[in-house]
Amino acid sequence: MGIKTVKFGGSSLANAEQIAKAAAIIRSDPDRRYVVASAPGKRSAADVKVTDLLYQLYGRRDGDYAYTLASIRQRFTRIASDLDVEIDLDPHFATIEKHLLTIADPDYIASRGEYLNCVLLAAYLGWPLIDSADVIRFADSGEFLVDETDVLLGTALHKVERAVIPGFYGATAQGQIKTFPRGGSDVTGALVARAAMAEVYENWTDVSGILIADPRVVDDPLPIREISYTALRELTYLGASVLHENAIIPVRSRGIPINIRNTDCPEDPGTWIHTEASTDSHGPAIVGVAAKIGYTAITVRKAQWSGSLGVGPSLFRLFQDLGVVVDLAVTGVDSWTVVIRSEMITHLMEVFMDKIRTLRPDAVEVRDGLALVGVIASGTLPRTTVTVRLAQALDDARIDVFADTYVGDLRIFTIDTDRHDDAIRAIYAALVD
Ligand code: ASP
Repeated sequence: MGIKTVKFGGSSLANAEQIAKAAAIIRSDPDRRYVVASAPGKRSAADVKVTDLLYQLYGRRDGDYAYTLASIRQRFTRIASDLDVEIDLDPHFATIEKHLLTIADPDYIASRGEYLNCVLLAAYLGWPLIDSADVIRFADSGEFLVDETDVLLGTALHKVERAVIPGFYGATAQGQIKTFPRGGSDVTGALVARAAMAEVYENWTDVSGILIADPRVVDDPLPIREISYTALRELTYLGASVLHENAIIPVRSRGIPINIRNTDCPEDPGTWIHTEASTDSHGPAIVGVAAKIGYTAITVRKAQWSGSLGVGPSLFRLFQDLGVVVDLAVTGVDSWTVVIRSEMITHLMEVFMDKIRTLRPDAVEVRDGLALVGVIASGTLPRTTVTVRLAQALDDARIDVFADTYVGDLRIFTIDTDRHDDAIRAIYAALVD
């Protein structure tokens, strides 16, 4: 049987009730041997995450911090008593307060949410705790050390049958705590899965997977059942909010799939992220749709360009010299159109115009206020059928398409910004519903 590494996010561990649900999930499968946990998250929309409280505590270190420290303490005391876990939190809080008044390092303070939550979770499960400070290694400069970590973690995990490991932080060889960016427990989960050679990295959260479309735009969108790492990267680039890229690299490089699951609905299969997604012949025709606004298109025309090799490269060299990233390029016979993030080019427009004149174009057209809408076909329908349906959906919604580019399963429509939500709704209705 394989090893499963499971990571629970803050909302899955926000109070004793949620922690008990997480523990039931862990215990229901003996392969779930390594558990990575976040700090307690929000219990309601108006609540404050423990990590945010810890940053507030740090900010108030020179003044009236007592109330904040007391409310953090109260969150943990309440969890411990509701779970019936006998733990003396006094020494932990005495250490935090002493640190606050002497060394006062923000990373250390912020990391205590994960640490204390894992102390409680480990006691509740009756499992050992591996402190991430001993196994997740950073350089003094703050740079994360991937190879050292892999060895340290691998060795530590090998010695124990089961363990609870706090997310979000590690330490230098001298023991100084360093944190990952916010949301970094996902990264810890991936590192543990990788070092444990897990058969799956289960990421437990408060939704039943990555959704096909943004739920703020489409009512109750379906979750994505399966997606390849490559397709996920494309959707994320175009604005879908999912796991942080740094949480994907460690497992992707070892071919470990990620399964995003819902702690409140453990029976839901969630989303599987694989190296290669297999085709489910019954699923929706698209894997996902996402949009990103704030684009400018520049079209440069010159008769007989197609005959000269030099123009395309010169145009791209010009952008390169200006440090401008081209997100999309479409070539006509005697024209080139590039789509660029507006914030990259707006302030350089005059310089660009001066330089482009040296190529002696017939015309240069600039169009602002564009959005890119990306759609990934799932493979359940022939690509041409998907293309026709997408075109029909946009046409029915009276959405004018400035440019459409198709490569493999990815289609990108460049449209007016004010229609991007309509486009997502039209595409979802035509290809998913
Ligand atoms: N607790 C940290 C945060 O709020 C890390 C995490 O939850 O992933 O960012």
